Amino acid sequence: MELSPPGEWTLYRCTACGTGYLDPRPTAATIELAYSTYYTHASAGDVGARPRSWWRHRRTAQRNAYLNARYNYQISPGGNRSPRWLSAERQQRFDKFVCFLRYPGKGARVLDIGCGNGRVMMQLRSVGWEVSGIEPDPKSAARAREAGLDVRTGL
Ligand SMILES: [Zn+2]
Repeated sequence: MELSPPGEWTLYRCTACGTGYLDPRPTAATIELAYSTYYTHASAGDVGARPRSWWRHRRTAQRNAYLNARYNYQISPGGNRSPRWLSAERQQRFDKFVCFLRYPGKGARVLDIGCGNGRVMMQLRSVGWEVSGIEPDPKSAARAREAGLDVRTGL
């Protein structure tokens, strides 16, 4: 079985922001080969804003407080006062957890295009978003649906 698309590509990368693209662009047929062993074929696992055990309670509360203060979330436990000190690395991890998205309020909806196994959708759902996704890879889309997510297969 061929595990990678046949042919040669050049990867161009922007030196300013790191965004890259392939030349020539993959077709619908070759992109399937590229994703056939992709990591999103595994389950996204258990992702949540609520602590699973007491020892994690403090860490979760710290994250929630940061997200509540910075991005208008209303997650508990947490409160609305940002923790006094957080490393830049940790703040960045929290920022990425919500994709830098400010929470507009109850009923807010988000569509994840190319959602993979739904990991990001589960993160966003755990902090209040109503989530939907679309994913061209049928295996990844199936994993996401198994996790109870509203995901369609397609482009
Ligand atoms: Zn750029």
